[in-house]
Amino acid sequence: MKMETKCIHSGYKPKNGEPRALPIYQSTTFKYDKTADIGALFDLSSNGYFYSRIGNPTVDAVEKKIADMEGGVGALCTTSGQAANLLAVLNICSCGDSIVAVSEIYGGTINLFAVTLKRLGIECIFIRNDAGEAEIQAAIQPNTRLIFGETLANPAMCVFDIEKFANVAHKNGLPLIIDNTFATPFLCRPIEFGADIVTHSTTKYMDGHALQVGGVIVDSGKFSWDNGKFPELTEPDESYHGVQYVHNFGAAAFITKARVQLMRDFGMYPGAINAFLLNLGLETLAVRMERYCSNAETVAKHLLHSDMVESVSYPALPGDKYYQLAQKYLPNGCSGVMALVIKGGKETAVKFMDSLNLASNEVHVADIRTCVLHPASETHRQLNDEQLKAAGIHPGMVRLSVGLENVDDIIEDVEQALKKAKV
Ligand SMILES: *Cc1c(COP(=O)(O)O)cnc(C)c1O
Repeated sequence: MKMETKCIHSGYKPKNGEPRALPIYQSTTFKYDKTADIGALFDLSSNGYFYSRIGNPTVDAVEKKIADMEGGVGALCTTSGQAANLLAVLNICSCGDSIVAVSEIYGGTINLFAVTLKRLGIECIFIRNDAGEAEIQAAIQPNTRLIFGETLANPAMCVFDIEKFANVAHKNGLPLIIDNTFATPFLCRPIEFGADIVTHSTTKYMDGHALQVGGVIVDSGKFSWDNGKFPELTEPDESYHGVQYVHNFGAAAFITKARVQLMRDFGMYPGAINAFLLNLGLETLAVRMERYCSNAETVAKHLLHSDMVESVSYPALPGDKYYQLAQKYLPNGCSGVMALVIKGGKETAVKFMDSLNLASNEVHVADIRTCVLHPASETHRQLNDEQLKAAGIHPGMVRLSVGLENVDDIIEDVEQALKKAKV
């Protein structure tokens, strides 16, 4: 099936007489005839649902759909994008390990990696999105367990060179984890370029309607975990009467462990109703992404000529620093998000945002409604000046997330707000 078809049909195939739309299985538990049936489920020797902290039929259908869209062997939904990235890392890292991540990634992930993981004894070494192979190699230590990047960095809009990072990671026996939130599998499928694990904040384009906060982890099933660096996947799991994930689950070792061990222990599984809402968004993802991209390209080209705008970062623009990489990894567009630097710094940027009528000022992005955010005073407020600079954030930067309204209305609104900001 092609992507448009997968968006609609993957994950749920009703049998004769069953509901056409994905049902909401709003139940914490599932009834069985025999104690032994439940025992077999706990043993992982049979398939089925037994408790909605680690699996639920509605969520499962959405997991199967997203795994199919990304080209993975399995997926695990989480209660947020933050939870997805945390679980993906903790699945293979313990106290004393380190990870390598790109400094332009989402501010929430920077806090998680630089501050909270550090408290758990996991060190994060940050490198530039544009680092060459030697620079990436130099960041890798004997205790490094993974490399992490974002396809399209939020909000700096840098394009991540997946193949380059995958090559260095694989030479060192390490997996590459990619946060593919902004691109979605409609614009880029990182696994096809060598990524091993893909994560998402499904809160963004996948949902698209600002209805649920959620995340997902997708396992490519391609990484060889039995190179001596990942004993948690190859040695017996004491908390699961000696199960050996690679031995017992093969290509699905990583995602199975994330579910039956970490999800069991941390309990960050979404409710059925949230998965249902996410699925509604996924069904229209393909058509929405096309329109986000075309609207954003029109707005970005228009803003390039404004005397109020210092710069527009949108990698689909031929003059953009990341145009070549975008042509390779995102040939069908670069989402609806762009980073604008308004002339006059923070004060003018805030005045511009406060003067918008149609576009809303909110902590969100990738919605059907056009919205704006000021990273330096909002999402990235916790970062210090040095981190802000490394994350590619200018004090006058506005993150504009172009929605699905008529593009002429969006441009008219932006124009009138720029005029007001000028006075
Ligand atoms: C929003 C976002 C996250 C965090 O996701 P939540 O669903 O808000 O927890 C992670 N990565 C990226 C790229 C994001 O845009």
